[in-house]
Amino acid sequence: MEKTRILIVEDEEKIARVLELELTYEGYEVVKAFDGMEGLQKYREGHWDLLLLDIMLPGISGIELLRRIRSDDQQIAVIMLTAKDSVEDKVSGLDLGANDYITKPFQIEELLARVRAVLRTHASATDDGEAGWIQAADLRLNEQTHEVIRDGQSIELTPKEFNLLAYLMKNKRQVLNREQILDAVWGYDYYGDTNVVDVYIRYIRNKMDKEYDPALIRTVRGVGYVLKDPR
Ligand code: CA
Repeated sequence: MEKTRILIVEDEEKIARVLELELTYEGYEVVKAFDGMEGLQKYREGHWDLLLLDIMLPGISGIELLRRIRSDDQQIAVIMLTAKDSVEDKVSGLDLGANDYITKPFQIEELLARVRAVLRTHASATDDGEAGWIQAADLRLNEQTHEVIRDGQSIELTPKEFNLLAYLMKNKRQVLNREQILDAVWGYDYYGDTNVVDVYIRYIRNKMDKEYDPALIRTVRGVGYVLKDPR
């Protein structure tokens, strides 16, 4: 089996070195980069399963690096390494689609547990079944062919509805707020009301969830939405 590949972007060499040693010991293949530009370059040269990304980096920041990566790759799992007091960084990182964050200083065991958890969630969200298919319960979606099938029946969605459902499925079991969904599906240059998210959630629910059991799209009060199999 191919090793899971992790890219570490961290300018503090000591931390990067410890991470490299521990993760290599756990059986991962690890590559380090010490600043944002080097990180972006190495990211583009290889294929990666997980990015461990420090936020405070010389050159381009971790947040900027994440923005660039997410604009062309929704697949890679990302855990941010943040300083204790940088709440804003955590929020913008999560908004940009980081899967998790860990606050420095951290216990290595905690970090390893997060890495395993994120990789597990991520693998099940991206590698289900045959190529291109993402699955949740009896719902299947294919990003390459734009097919959606629920309980064996083909479901017709508009392109926007399809992108919304695909985003929810790729991040299944993660609660997504309206801004996150808006950025991912409508783009950063969309300045309309976040109500559009609720409207489109209703459209796709009517088409692929309402008549089926179990309902997969859940409203999380005061936060947003999550797609998950409740069983
Ligand atoms: Ca740093």
